[in-house]
Amino acid sequence: MASIFSRIAAGEIPSYKVAENDRYFAFLDINPMAPGHTLVIPKKETDYLFDLDAEEYAGLMEFAREVALKIKRAIPCKRVGVAVLGMEVPHAHIHLVPLQTEADMDFRKPKLSLPAEEMADIAQAIANA
Ligand code: AMP
Repeated sequence: MASIFSRIAAGEIPSYKVAENDRYFAFLDINPMAPGHTLVIPKKETDYLFDLDAEEYAGLMEFAREVALKIKRAIPCKRVGVAVLGMEVPHAHIHLVPLQTEADMDFRKPKLSLPAEEMADIAQAIANA
């Protein structure tokens, strides 16, 4: 059965898309640590990031870099933090989080739940940046 992230990349489940090419997809985390928190995934279904082959991994990292630059242009922040957890969803993904302080990347903190309209506006701003 396809993972939830495969179904998002295929458009079967809605998401706040920020970028896509033929191999990779980026969309807002539904429960962000900070506004603009984005997940970057390979369309090819692989459980864990470090199980990707070297070429697929390098391509994903370059795509993540391009998305991070967009986030930095669209969202006022000092840095874009990068994290890999994979504790919840068994489909390789990279977290990109706009940071004002280190505390913005504390995964133990309660996550945000932003209104749909705000999420859509943030996704569009990043997509267009
Ligand atoms: P982890 O697997 O530990 O890296 O966490 C998975 C992340 O995916 C969490 O931050 C969730 O909020 C996020 N997430 C889970 N389902 C969705 C979804 N349908 N759309 C967007 N983000 C999601």
